[in-house]
Amino acid sequence: MKEIKNTAKIETKCLHSGYTPKNGEPRVMPIVQSTTYVYDSTNSVADVFDDPTLSLIYSRFENPTTDCVEKKIAALEGGAAAMCTSSGQAASLLSILNICEAGDSFIASSSIYGGTVNLFGFTLKKMGIECIWVDVNATPEELDSAFKPNTKAVFGETIANPALTVFDIEMWANAAHKHNVPLIVDNTFATPYLCRPIEWGADIVVHSTSKYMDGHAVQVGGVIVDSGKFNWDNGKFPCLSEPDESYHGTVYTKQYPAAPYITKARMQLMRDFGCYPAAHSSFLLNLGLETLAVRMPVYCSNALKAAEFIASSDKVEAVYYPGLKTDKYHSLAEKYLPLGTSGVISFSIKGGRDAAVRFMDSLELASNEVHVADIRTCVLHPASATHRQLSDEQLVAAGIDGGLIRLSVGLENIDDILADLKQAFDKM
Ligand code: PLP
Repeated sequence: MKEIKNTAKIETKCLHSGYTPKNGEPRVMPIVQSTTYVYDSTNSVADVFDDPTLSLIYSRFENPTTDCVEKKIAALEGGAAAMCTSSGQAASLLSILNICEAGDSFIASSSIYGGTVNLFGFTLKKMGIECIWVDVNATPEELDSAFKPNTKAVFGETIANPALTVFDIEMWANAAHKHNVPLIVDNTFATPYLCRPIEWGADIVVHSTSKYMDGHAVQVGGVIVDSGKFNWDNGKFPCLSEPDESYHGTVYTKQYPAAPYITKARMQLMRDFGCYPAAHSSFLLNLGLETLAVRMPVYCSNALKAAEFIASSDKVEAVYYPGLKTDKYHSLAEKYLPLGTSGVISFSIKGGRDAAVRFMDSLELASNEVHVADIRTCVLHPASATHRQLSDEQLVAAGIDGGLIRLSVGLENIDDILADLKQAFDKM
């Protein structure tokens, strides 16, 4: 056996995410499956409570495995810091609650995910927070006139699920900034591979990581990214610029100037709500992130071919895919999504709800799932599933009709995907 003469410590980095293990720690990304951390003294514990960024306190709001993933997603989005959540819904909820309280309002694009419509339009309303809906196609003047003195944020979705409208991030960011409030963008479908909203003026980015980031349908999760660029000291956000009495007088903008928004979200909201992912969930999410850049181009090219095929069928009323040159949002897609417009296509089949159900039940390769943005091709009928709770007016505002089918194109061979669509159309 070869004798090892040099006994000097060799610094190693973890294979996943660049985590540098300290002496005695494992040499791969740790799955720190622990609720608790141990300190050398009582005073150390006190110090960490004074400044939680010094070390770890409790896995209800921080964990070394999740921390690796948070840093990775912050870097991917070009943000200053990130906080993972146990679902995309939790990320959207906390992104608003972090800066709005009873008596406040915020503006949201009418073309967003149905679950977010419920959250904003019903649940937050019960908590005294008003959502002002503005058409995704509003002119700058129409958008400007929607602001009220109590409006604290603006929210939109880069590529809306399932209407597949493209959000004019720069225009909405300018409107938000004119009124001294941040723009929050749900970037779930685009992922930072296709669009980085912060580069277009967004201040906060949220994701359902359950979709392309995870990519394999194994883990529900979410994340909030703080750009670190918004000026919270503008007088509109005392929750960040004045002492937090629930955290012994911490002034987030003063004590944590690099990323006050996300520090508050963690120290206050995550501490209180505890919707934080478990270490193992974050480990699985990291596996998905590591192949995101390889998967996204394939989803995009497969979906473009599928969208062209669907558009050529006489059984189809309309196709919504911003990658198609004929799509209403193609020019916005060219601006914000030059690498492609994701794997999700929506289309309306002639014959309404009954025809949509018949077509979907004829598919063999594509499965019927309440999911989207996965490696496997799947379909969903939004009007009877994810958007079932919406009123007819809300369905129209979200761009949904009875014949609408959401097709999430996966990574299978494109010839197989097209053959499946063809045989289902042939049965119509
Ligand atoms: N945002 C978008 C765009 C979504 O599509 C979804 C879920 O489909 C969510 C948020 C909510 O995410 P989750 O299901 O992870 O709670």
